[in-house]
Amino acid sequence: MTSPIILWFRRDLRLSDHPALTEAAASGRPVIPVFLHDEVVSSLGAAPKWRLGLSVAAHAKALSEKGARLILRRGRALECLADLVAETGAGAVWWTRAYDPDSIARDTEVKTALKQAGVDARSFPGHVLFEPWTVETGTGGYYRVYTPFWKAVRDRDVAEARPAPGRIPVPEGWPASDDLDDWHLGAAMRRGADVVGALVTVGEDAARGRLGAFIAEGIDNYDEARDFPARDGTSNLSENLTYGEISPVALWHAGRRAMQEGKRGAETFLKEVVWRDFAYHLVYHTPRITHANWRPEWDAFPWNTEATKAVTRWKRGRTGEPFVDAAMREMYVTGTMHNRARMIVASYLTKHLLSHWRIGQRWFEDCLIDWDPASNAMGWQWAAGSGPDATPYFRVFNPATQLEKFDPDGHYRRRWIAEGQAAPSATALSFFDAVPRSWGLAAAEAYPAPIVNLKEGRQTALDAYKARDF
Ligand code: FAD
Repeated sequence: MTSPIILWFRRDLRLSDHPALTEAAASGRPVIPVFLHDEVVSSLGAAPKWRLGLSVAAHAKALSEKGARLILRRGRALECLADLVAETGAGAVWWTRAYDPDSIARDTEVKTALKQAGVDARSFPGHVLFEPWTVETGTGGYYRVYTPFWKAVRDRDVAEARPAPGRIPVPEGWPASDDLDDWHLGAAMRRGADVVGALVTVGEDAARGRLGAFIAEGIDNYDEARDFPARDGTSNLSENLTYGEISPVALWHAGRRAMQEGKRGAETFLKEVVWRDFAYHLVYHTPRITHANWRPEWDAFPWNTEATKAVTRWKRGRTGEPFVDAAMREMYVTGTMHNRARMIVASYLTKHLLSHWRIGQRWFEDCLIDWDPASNAMGWQWAAGSGPDATPYFRVFNPATQLEKFDPDGHYRRRWIAEGQAAPSATALSFFDAVPRSWGLAAAEAYPAPIVNLKEGRQTALDAYKARDF
């Protein structure tokens, strides 16, 4: 076989530890790297779509340093790939597997049609540590609870991360490519892109550097520091993992080595990395988790599904509850949010405001540069109580006492809330540069009074929970 292999990159924008690329490069056949602005990319929210554009640009540069190119095409995946096969005479289209329902629907259509046309359409592992169908309970089912899932995988052998291929064989001529700038992937970001743009860490080299720095300086204190939103106590690698700029395998082995060296937070870190795998395990086995209550009985719960004024205040960081507002502003400015803060704002929306978790899920989907279809869905259903292994609905986080406990010196609050401060921090002021002017917000305004009395909001949530008939 000498015909080219089309390497279709998606959420795997790296050269190292990439099984499909390793095998393609080793085959000696010409490799044509491709990225498509397809139906799945089109449906992305504003921030992830913009951040994806940065990742694609970095990946194109990395490929060009190897003498290859990243061919860009826009349209339905099947049509783009069929065109490319016809234009290049490629005999194979390979890609790294994805597990969310939209990607599976697209990939199944592509695989079926290309195979019928005699093309070697093949998917490879690389996005998760453990393929979802390889982790089974004693009775042969999938796991619904995290701890037994962790116990089932923690001692498994995971093949070492592979280096990038030394050489990528290229075709004699390249097919035509779109210009990335013409895709305008950041169009929906408006003003925010300038603010978030200064804070991102893009590409494979940068991601590897981030992992190295975390292992050297952060992992030892991870257990203590990871709960405090004002501290830089976590790896911040979710931004890179979601576009595949680094593989979970690289995190796994770095964590294992740190554990062997006696670094204290290493096991907890590995457990968190496995939470990501668990999310994909659930999405694969129960795809409804991305769009419907995982426990169907929750369909009868009186969630508020309207975009109420309170929901708007939540989105804009104007609830009058400092932990919630600081977190929502952090997300707007940085495109990420600390894990504890995600739990607090999700609990507040679904319990104190009695609003449907889908509203929050969609807002995160629009704002997070680390948006991940599996972790976001699992996180929201965990917080709302409607998911597998979820926190019980009657466990209502109190954002005021959580702030006292996890931000005792007020650093997080001051970092993000300008109102009422004589000399607000640059980060707090940057929120007002990032938000649309139509929101009409100004740092000089008074900080709002709480829109919900915490005690009453908690009681309303508990009353609704008690009145349910399931
Ligand atoms: P670290 O603490 O350094 O952990 C290392 C890695 O482990 C992370 O990068 C991530 O891949 C994984 N991880 C850690 N915690 C979790 C978790 N609770 N669930 C799944 N994986 C985890 N994570 C996303 O990547 N994208 C999302 O869209 C997302 N939405 C969330 C929504 C809600 C409501 C909640 C409660 C959590 C959500 N999470 C999401 C999980 C978690 O908040 C982030 O993964 C974490 O904050 C990322 O920071 P880090 O990379 O510094 O994590």
